[in-house]
Amino acid sequence: MKVALVTGGSRGIGAAIVEALHAAGDAVYFTYAREADAARRVQRRLGAERAVCAPCDVADGKMLPALVDACLTRFGRLDVLINNAGIYAENAFDADSYEAWRTNWQRTFAVNLFGAADLAFLAMRAMRENPPDRRGTRGRIVNVTSRSAHRGELSFADYAASKAALRNLVKSIARSCARDGIVAFDVAPGYIATDMAAEAIAAEGDHIRGEIPGGRIGTPEEVAGIVTFLASGDADYATGTTIDVNGASYVR
Ligand code: NDP
Repeated sequence: MKVALVTGGSRGIGAAIVEALHAAGDAVYFTYAREADAARRVQRRLGAERAVCAPCDVADGKMLPALVDACLTRFGRLDVLINNAGIYAENAFDADSYEAWRTNWQRTFAVNLFGAADLAFLAMRAMRENPPDRRGTRGRIVNVTSRSAHRGELSFADYAASKAALRNLVKSIARSCARDGIVAFDVAPGYIATDMAAEAIAAEGDHIRGEIPGGRIGTPEEVAGIVTFLASGDADYATGTTIDVNGASYVR
């Protein structure tokens, strides 16, 4: 049984990842920021034996050591980190307030990038303690990035830049930490039907679907299935890579 730590597991893609990893036999320690009821509903569906939820703002670096420790105390080890928590807030180049522009950049990077990098640092400490499996792997890290990391955004430039950096973090982990038996990947979704995308889909669903050759917006389960594969060990030799999950709306 592997032990996975998933950030932002209360809703959307994160909740689907928690459920998919649990269905694959893993124990899952997952976090939420504010939606305690939603997180507890996920935990109740799965039962307390292999699923635990805890509040944690990933941007608050001081909380993160205690989060990793709590996972280790509850399940005894940490094999997989899924950096899924993220925020997506409009921050247009031609907006009025310079102060708001700067605040938005800082908050987006604090959650989407710095929280993930901090947790990777802390998780790797625990992973190095694991004995190597038959592939020599001691730990796996999967970041949920975004199509925008590769194609840019119109009025969410800070979001796209944070995801590009999160993608780049995977390359560095893969190159630097292979010697410790740690592999890293990212999945880069296009629009996926969750709360985060709901406003955009409601406002411009026809345009969004028009960019997708199959005409269909993806589901959280379609991202979770790929994350589960990357966490399984079967993909270890592909360390450092991205898997695009965008219905061919942006083929690179
Ligand atoms: P949702 O907004 O539906 O869920 C976001 C999750 O992140 C929630 O569990 C939320 O917790 C948690 N979260 C938000 N802020 C923090 C924080 N500061 N600390 C800890 N947890 C936090 O988003 P999605 O499921 O759509 O997105 C998941 C990931 O997928 C994100 O990284 C997003 O950028 C990425 N993505 C999503 C796409 C989409 O179209 N939906 C497309 C491309 C990438 P709580 O419930 O408590 O608020």
